[in-house]
Amino acid sequence: MINISRLWAGINQPADHLRYGLHSKPGMPCAPTSSRTRRPIVVWNITRTCNLRCVHCYADSHAENYPGELTLDQCFAVIDDLSKYEVNALLLSGGEPLLHPHLPRLLERATARGLKVTISTNGTRITQQSAQLFKTLGVAYVGISLDGIGAVHDRFRGVPGAFNAALRGFKLCEQVGQKTGLRLTLTRHNVQSMPQILDFIEREDIQRVCFYHLVPTGRGVDVAALRPEESRAALDMLLERSAAWHAAGSTRELLTVTQPADGVYILLRQLREGSPLAEQTRRLLSWNGGGANSSGRGIANIDTQGYIHPDQFWQQVTLGNVKTDSFSRVWDASLPASAAQLNELRGSDDPAERQKKLTGPCATCRHFALCGGGYRTRAAISNGHWFGSDPACYLTAEERAMQL
Ligand code: SF4
Repeated sequence: MINISRLWAGINQPADHLRYGLHSKPGMPCAPTSSRTRRPIVVWNITRTCNLRCVHCYADSHAENYPGELTLDQCFAVIDDLSKYEVNALLLSGGEPLLHPHLPRLLERATARGLKVTISTNGTRITQQSAQLFKTLGVAYVGISLDGIGAVHDRFRGVPGAFNAALRGFKLCEQVGQKTGLRLTLTRHNVQSMPQILDFIEREDIQRVCFYHLVPTGRGVDVAALRPEESRAALDMLLERSAAWHAAGSTRELLTVTQPADGVYILLRQLREGSPLAEQTRRLLSWNGGGANSSGRGIANIDTQGYIHPDQFWQQVTLGNVKTDSFSRVWDASLPASAAQLNELRGSDDPAERQKKLTGPCATCRHFALCGGGYRTRAAISNGHWFGSDPACYLTAEERAMQL
């Protein structure tokens, strides 16, 4: 994740200690000494069932029941293991997690075990009761997916009325004081709506927004990704809006996800424009390490069948299964089967050594230590092997060769 509010607007943010090794607030836990040593954030797809038909769904979900999903006891065992392993956060996703028959019991167990729990939902099934439950149990954050305003969102989500239902879910969470935000995937179908989306965020006073770059997997393979010039224009728009919000006294958190090259783009602009924040951006990106410390290291995934993957989009690589082994043992590479894959995937602690394995533009890019080779999952999916370059990197050859 690239935190624009932190890097571009210089605002302290709640997860700065995890993302950049900073103490962002008094009372925050100590910053880990290195982003390569922190425990992962686990994205757990608890069910594949969904009530919507989103065109970019990476899980290829439908409104049906899927056999083989984890039993309640298996789910409890996963939660207990993740808690003992002290993972940084547990993100419950789907399908639509609110359609899981035992969601309240999973939340109860996870929060009682001290896990920081967040939920990623399409928002349409949130009721007053469920919003209150999230708040009472101490769910840290509810991320609601939105892809546009009104009909644009409904078209994307494949169901008329999805926008209004998601907005109602958002407001119900807000009414009970549940921390809630939006997540949007940038594609060629909605990029023209960005000014309206940003106006909407401002008008509704939404305090956290994540813009995802498309990862072409699941049904997302058929969705048109942004061209390089569109990515640059979209990011410029986010930077400008973030600065305007900051100038108006807002601490709204604005992030991009699945494109570490955004951090380099921000640094390049700051250097070009003589920003006093440039040196800090360089330091924070370097601490974070970008894609090299993300999938398979800082991010993990458990799918609906219990299989463990480097992240939720990278289902082609399977490291183990929580039905037959514990997540912690697999992730610690203490099993020969997972160890070989994880060690290969994680590579050397030295960025220069890691870069030697890559092919394509990332192999010679001067910003590898800050970016880590873009989003490694997209690189792997698009190239058919683990060490290709991220095809969605929109930096020019001149920018990649620049000495920063
Ligand atoms: S070429 Fe690769 S390492 Fe360089 S900025 Fe782009 S994605 Fe990152």
